[in-house]
Amino acid sequence: MALRAAAAQDGFDLRPFSSFRDFHTQARIWRRKFLLEKPIFDQSGAPIDGGSLTEEERVWAILGYSALPGGSRHHWGTEIDVVDGVAVDAGAPVDLLPHETAPGGVFSELHVWLGEHLTKFGFHRPYDQWRGGMFAEPWHLSFSEVSEAALSALEPEMIAEALRNAALPGGPVVLRLLPTIWERHIQNVAAPINASSAQSDW
Ligand SMILES: [Zn+2]
Repeated sequence: MALRAAAAQDGFDLRPFSSFRDFHTQARIWRRKFLLEKPIFDQSGAPIDGGSLTEEERVWAILGYSALPGGSRHHWGTEIDVVDGVAVDAGAPVDLLPHETAPGGVFSELHVWLGEHLTKFGFHRPYDQWRGGMFAEPWHLSFSEVSEAALSALEPEMIAEALRNAALPGGPVVLRLLPTIWERHIQNVAAPINASSAQSDW
């Protein structure tokens, strides 16, 4: 709320587009993408022809923008995907894709503002840039103190157990790939920038 109030002072309506998601909700997103009922996007935000992919290729394609159920940071209650309500109320559709946050995009000014201010309010961007796993998601903000504790507490076996009980499409492939997904998509994220040490550098 403090971050939202500060954004409002500078003319932005910082609004959550998506926040807490439980395992069941993430599994529904996964199922619809794996069964090609919802589009899968590549790193540039262009839709992929999922029908031409093997099951394993489809898993990797989905994981660019959608976390594995059980491995989503949105399960923790610490993550929000944000938009600028000023642009949304003016009619901008929300895709959460790069064209919105790139220079000239509908949310680009909000994201420049966030880059200058979010650390002071205890947030960071875990998907600040592509690191070989999740694509860059500047709209995805994380409340650092609590999410760092959650990330430390998470173990791959917890995810495997949830997946074994879920009858997820592609589940056997996912379980085989889980050690790589764990390293590449769950552990391989940006750490918070320490606000006080950042200030002392000035
Ligand atoms: Zn997100």
